[in-house]
Amino acid sequence: MSEHFTPQPDEPQVLRHAALSCPWCATRLDSAARPDGSIPTPPVTGDFTLCLACVNVAVFEVGPLGVALRQANEHDMSLFLSRRSNVRALRLARRVRREYPGGSVDRHE
Ligand SMILES: [Zn+2]
Repeated sequence: MSEHFTPQPDEPQVLRHAALSCPWCATRLDSAARPDGSIPTPPVTGDFTLCLACVNVAVFEVGPLGVALRQANEHDMSLFLSRRSNVRALRLARRVRREYPGGSVDRHE
């Protein structure tokens, strides 16, 4: 397990990390999970994350000093969209945003 990610005690399918701002909308992001609910491996540099507040794709940068997120560029997006599961996750997130525009998708809120 990477030193920057720790499993959430009651939900091991969620990894917690230091709070970061979404590089698109500045929403506070502090967890990572897989769309299929499986136990995730800690993100590494180049892994994608989908902000559920603004439904934009960001890219993890993981180094010895910590974790950062940057906006996905055109090259990143072509890689992201080349995986069918990513396309499905993006569509689902967009649908949730449309149906619950002001609501949170975090069941703890
Ligand atoms: Zn965002």
